[in-house]
Amino acid sequence: MTRRVVVATANPDKAREMRAVLAEAGLAIELVDRPPDVPEVEETGATLEENSRLKADALRDATGLPAIADDTGLEVDALDGAPGVLSARYAGPRASYGENVRKLLAELASRPDATRSARFRTVVVLAQVDGSEIVASGTVEGEIIDHTRGDQGFGYDPVFVPAAAGGETFAQMEPARKHALSHRGQALRTLAVRMREAGWPTEARGE
Ligand code: IMP
Repeated sequence: MTRRVVVATANPDKAREMRAVLAEAGLAIELVDRPPDVPEVEETGATLEENSRLKADALRDATGLPAIADDTGLEVDALDGAPGVLSARYAGPRASYGENVRKLLAELASRPDATRSARFRTVVVLAQVDGSEIVASGTVEGEIIDHTRGDQGFGYDPVFVPAAAGGETFAQMEPARKHALSHRGQALRTLAVRMREAGWPTEARGE
């Protein structure tokens, strides 16, 4: 039996990636889009896990279905871990991806001798209808380059080069290659393992 699960994110780029990764995870689940009439959830938490939980709980409560949320941050060592939990709002409350990237490059340009090391971190929360939850996280180490490269992906992908991946940015990779390496891919694959362990149904073999 296939069980329905709501994708809690309002960001279409993240929702597309969640769908792509979970489609490969072997779970017998049908992913349902977030209903557009549910107001956007304010990310008032101090951590990725708190913000992910706020989104998952809100969508579970609004729909009566289990809901999976993702909260992601880019942690840049030379900026003491910024933008971190504020990654979506780095250049201001309604900042575009381009504005956030430009601010990041400007901050690093003003510190020419600083290390460029950074990591993406994702925490995913599955809020279940009985009030319990399953949590998983994923991290990818890399570095921030000083100009954009590539036009795939989204957000900070054009300036993030994951370690041990041949020097390409995430924005230069086919989606499947990004997902194999990425913070989000790792977090969702771990979540899927934990869901199986918790008794979530798996796809019948040969399907
Ligand atoms: P949030 O998880 O919705 O708070 O989003 C955090 C912000 O981080 C997004 O607005 C993007 O700018 C960025 N972001 C999240 N995931 C990725 C990714 O996979 N690649 C590049 N940037 C990302």
